[in-house]
Amino acid sequence: MMTGSAAPNPPAAPVASPPRPAPTEHTVLGRDESPVTFRGWLLGRATSRERAHTHRGEFAPPGYRCRRCRWFEVTIYRVDPAVPADPPWTAGEPPAYVVHTLGRSAVPEELTFARVAEAETAHKIMQLLVSYGRRGGDERTGPRLPEASARAIERAADADPELSAAYDAWLAAGVQ
Ligand SMILES: [Zn+2]
Repeated sequence: MMTGSAAPNPPAAPVASPPRPAPTEHTVLGRDESPVTFRGWLLGRATSRERAHTHRGEFAPPGYRCRRCRWFEVTIYRVDPAVPADPPWTAGEPPAYVVHTLGRSAVPEELTFARVAEAETAHKIMQLLVSYGRRGGDERTGPRLPEASARAIERAADADPELSAAYDAWLAAGVQ
């Protein structure tokens, strides 16, 4: 049986974006294994790593596609605009977003490739993460989002209305 509450409803709060939690410090691996530290919010992260190997033996041979041995990680951050220029951002002031990508490998002696990319707009995030068909292939493919990138964007979009709108526009354009 529903008993209900005797407490009166609180007055309706004005409709507004939920407040963000306080920004935190993030240190990510940049080029040449140099760390990059900034303040902001982790919006979304995803990995292409899978559970199972697709080959016999412990490690994939060179060039063999196995997403247990070699994988891609992407993390999207919103950057705190209140923090002055440290690290030395390209524009001299913090970008709206940082897109951190890692090409990782569990195979001995294979390197991790890291990139810290700045995005001034949510739309630029899409431009940074789309991939194109390889030159020399049978056919050139249009821009498409790798699965891990799409998942990271979807997660980040939940926390960022601008990115949500940019992603919807990108999907509506049908370029995937
Ligand atoms: Zn493997």
